Amino acid sequence: MKNRLLLSFSVFTLLFSLYFSVWNSAQQKTAIKTDLEYQIGAILYVQKAAEYRALCYQAFNWAKRMIDEDEKNLKKLPKSERRRPRAVIVDIDETVLDNSPAQAYGVINNKPFNLPDWYAWGEMRKAKAVPGAVDFANYAYSKGIRIFYISNRDEIQKQATIDNLKNVGFPDVSEETVILRQQESSKESRRRMVASKYRVVVLLGDNLNDFAQQFEKKSVEDRFAETDKIRQVWGERFIVLPNPMYGDWENAIYAYQRLTEEQKAQKRLEALELP
Ligand SMILES: [Mg+2]
Repeated sequence: MKNRLLLSFSVFTLLFSLYFSVWNSAQQKTAIKTDLEYQIGAILYVQKAAEYRALCYQAFNWAKRMIDEDEKNLKKLPKSERRRPRAVIVDIDETVLDNSPAQAYGVINNKPFNLPDWYAWGEMRKAKAVPGAVDFANYAYSKGIRIFYISNRDEIQKQATIDNLKNVGFPDVSEETVILRQQESSKESRRRMVASKYRVVVLLGDNLNDFAQQFEKKSVEDRFAETDKIRQVWGERFIVLPNPMYGDWENAIYAYQRLTEEQKAQKRLEALELP
């Protein structure tokens, strides 16, 4: 009898503590177990690593140098080129605007990327500028260089995007310079459009598709090969910003397929290189 009482008491205690630990973890964002948990390290790197900030400053400082270099080398250009007005092309998300809070929201609420949440975040106009981006854009603009913001945000997000860019201090932000996705996600035709009127000095992006067509829909290995092929162009005409949170680097791991979160997790594991 005594033993049975003791047993039911310990079972009760166990269940009670289990219930509260589950309840407790549901209250604490840190303890939520989700399929998106793998993203937390990447988001924290953007939000909390001074190294991330340093990389951004490094990229934009280098971009400023490219502008200075361009001025020094102007005389070497053919006359027709010399007279053309100049521009820089920047991507928006994770190049000049930081959407890490939207990523964090997705992880905490266990919601993978989806358009309603993405639009809602855009409507808030709350994205901060990537460190160094505003300074760089103003530097370029002060030299008479136009800034074109080429992004795959949807047209419906245009006003909110313009407002957000202006709010954080970017120059040359207008209907004309903010060029969003129309039908195709490839940015090639939009880059050409800018290049038809301007001499493009430098391009900045966090995704290789922000720079050239040759990276689009390529496998991990082919992305490496294409990157190696033009190795002298990095830091010369193309300047890359770090984005560990998402991008075609990740889509390439999934072979650009529509997969469930479980299938994606499996592909990620399979992609790891082991000793
Ligand atoms: Mg981007």
